[in-house]
Amino acid sequence: MDEFDLIRRYFTRATPAAVLGVGDDAALVAPSAGRQLAISADMLLEGRHFFADTDPYALGWKALAVNLSDMAAMGAQPRWFTLCIALPKADPAWLAPFSEGLFALADQYGVALIGGDTTAGPLNIAIQIIGEVEAGLALRRDGAQAGDDIWLSGPTGAAAMAVRHRYGRLQLADADLAYCAARLDRPQPRVTLGRRLLGLASAAIDISDGLVADLAHIARRSGLAATLNLLDLPQPALSDEVLALPDFDVCLLAGGDDYELCFTAAPAQRAAVQALASELKLPLCRVGSMAAGQGVQVLDAVGQPLALAQTGFNHFA
Ligand code: ADP
Ligand code: MG
Repeated sequence: MDEFDLIRRYFTRATPAAVLGVGDDAALVAPSAGRQLAISADMLLEGRHFFADTDPYALGWKALAVNLSDMAAMGAQPRWFTLCIALPKADPAWLAPFSEGLFALADQYGVALIGGDTTAGPLNIAIQIIGEVEAGLALRRDGAQAGDDIWLSGPTGAAAMAVRHRYGRLQLADADLAYCAARLDRPQPRVTLGRRLLGLASAAIDISDGLVADLAHIARRSGLAATLNLLDLPQPALSDEVLALPDFDVCLLAGGDDYELCFTAAPAQRAAVQALASELKLPLCRVGSMAAGQGVQVLDAVGQPLALAQTGFNHFA
């Protein structure tokens, strides 16, 4: 199987959403009237973002999921993506499940693979995604206002617990491991929620590096301080023993890879956000508020600020 067979077999699908898809020197797409393009890219490297023995289906899923999550955080409708992939070898036993995982999620969100690049080399997966958002309405990091509530779309921490388990730093029992591994390997990008937050949320970000670190981006870009209440943070469905581990609070506050949305909204929008939670069946949770100042603080059960040893993942820290 050469490079072109490989592209034809595993990465070429009908793309009715594009004017021209895979097979020419460039793809052609027609943006919708009145919308802006939202463009984002995310790279996954073996040994850095995933373990060498990661299930290829999960990898295909996740490579696209992390990009869809960026579209969700902007409130954009994902439309097209490109895939640049370096592969150690052209192995059908790896490529077939990888492309299945990739297209399973692509089909779920109606997003089309329209091109890319394929080379031999150490495993490296880079996806660029293009979405559309109503002009002027994108959910930016700089839109939070003093007095806004801070909301989370779901519990954080479980994905980071799965990473700790895989590194042998802690031992999760089967049921806990199954939950945490699903959060790590098959994140559900909150695309539908992101779309519905247009005109409702004032700012948004997806939690990829850690709750505190990612919320700090909203705080900094909006020129405000963020306060989280530890007791209001939603907890993942894990056993009491796991929730009581000292590592757990670190994962809750600073563990990455959850791909939940963190967003701010005016208190006047509380009822609307709660109605959205029931409609979309998402456990949207109000976890804090924005105020004049800077930085992120987390208040404990008695309202005292926690000393945070770690806020999130940072490649060059
Ligand atoms: P070029 O030589 O013009 O760069 P390539 O031979 O690299 O073109 O690719 C041929 C076609 O296949 C192009 O349309 C390109 O976008 C597409 N393509 C290459 N690799 C991938 C991939 N991994 N997934 C999807 N499309 C791909
Ligand atoms: Mg090329």
